[in-house]
Amino acid sequence: MRRTKIIATLGPATDDPATIDRLLDAGVDLFRLNYSHQDQAEHAKRMQTIRERTAARGVEIGVIADLQGPKIRLERFVNDKVNLRDSATFVINTELPSHLGDESQVGVSYKDLPRDVKAGDTLLVDDGRIVLRVKDVTGNEVSCEVMLGGELTGNKGLNRLGGGLSATALTDKDKSDLIHAVDLGVDYVAISFPRTADDINEARELLKDAGSNAGIIAKIERAEALDHVEEIVEVSDAIMIARGDLGVEIGDAALPPAQKRLIKIAREMDRAVITATQMMESMIEHQMPTRAEVFDVANAVLDGTDAVMLSAETSIGRYPDKAVAAMSRICAETEKQRMARISDHRINQRFERIDEAIAMSTMYAANHIGARAIAALTETGSTCVWMSRISSGIPIFAFTRHVGTQRKMKLFRGVYPIGFDITHADPLEANKDMIEILMSRGIVKNNDIVIITKGDLRGARGGTNNMKILRVGEALEHSI
Ligand code: PGA
Ligand code: MN
Repeated sequence: MRRTKIIATLGPATDDPATIDRLLDAGVDLFRLNYSHQDQAEHAKRMQTIRERTAARGVEIGVIADLQGPKIRLERFVNDKVNLRDSATFVINTELPSHLGDESQVGVSYKDLPRDVKAGDTLLVDDGRIVLRVKDVTGNEVSCEVMLGGELTGNKGLNRLGGGLSATALTDKDKSDLIHAVDLGVDYVAISFPRTADDINEARELLKDAGSNAGIIAKIERAEALDHVEEIVEVSDAIMIARGDLGVEIGDAALPPAQKRLIKIAREMDRAVITATQMMESMIEHQMPTRAEVFDVANAVLDGTDAVMLSAETSIGRYPDKAVAAMSRICAETEKQRMARISDHRINQRFERIDEAIAMSTMYAANHIGARAIAALTETGSTCVWMSRISSGIPIFAFTRHVGTQRKMKLFRGVYPIGFDITHADPLEANKDMIEILMSRGIVKNNDIVIITKGDLRGARGGTNNMKILRVGEALEHSI
């Protein structure tokens, strides 16, 4: 059983319901609706297909709505594209009508650009394919020297090396998309370009006002976010290492240490972490990943990521299901290595809550007694989150009556949700029922050890206060 989770971005290449079926067969755990592309009606249609195809096979899957955020884009050109020559002067003019760009100047979506940049700044266009150096700023014009030229088409992204552009994280479009996503019933909302915890708190308020308890994924893709990472992680449910934009802002060579640091911080703070962008990039066109891509996925697994994500590989790629299958086999193979299963953090740590102490004791016992599986009877999933922060090879089954908890738990490494309504089961038979489910799925057999965690009160949140070590096959009638 693969522990690392796979996220696939939907797009034109996956719109056929048969493709969704193939992605599910290949092992996708969560789908991502990317609100940077296509309109709301398109996303609603995709959500409907997801619901239909998962219902048809009786499985649950998580869905992430990824909001566009304040991605700054240059406007368009009169003749679709221009060729910028090295050392030429190129002006970014906030007042220029959107389609009137040419070889000498272009408009920009972000009207405060002249306020945020100064002479000497380096601006990166189209993920750094074009490099500009600011010469001077006057009124609505940012005059630049072309340091690295080339062909440029319209609507390309603009970043400043080192970060520092002050656009707020949630645009009016994001706010409208967030409400739309809540209506679709997504499980997570991903916030693009947050700078501080305030941006996440604002999104949390909007979700609350809309009556949603969707989780929040903070995309770490601005240089400033790295300076505030602990406070951002604290108020988020998960983070995404958005290597595309982050790499532009901090430079590609700074990405590997950033990835390792972010994964470590997220896990230590009991949050999930997604490694994203260009993991299988060559598979947009080819049926096989490059060796470098194989290593990239494997290294993310060894770093401790919860999930690996596919973007263009699935949304516009030629082989969406093959990309998922390749990722899946690389993750599963990597997880067999001892390095991927051990961890020693928290040995000397104090626990703040009873349910957290139960979760950690369970992991300690499970690892030392050689348990085959952990079965957690859970409402919100928090016990499973804590347990999954300890690396091990032991699967954690989240037995829950809430569909929302099942879908959210899809994101956590080593956690497998199972629908189970304790309020309709005989409480005296719950242990037996859960073990029978695990037996019927071929996960445990006679004599295996299973550790069960649950609370005294059926269906109470945050109430896990006991752990039970059972041997499969022993009389479990009235084991409570
Ligand atoms: P994006 O985010 O695909 O929405 O740009 C991911 C990244 O920047 O890496
Ligand atoms: Mn991005």
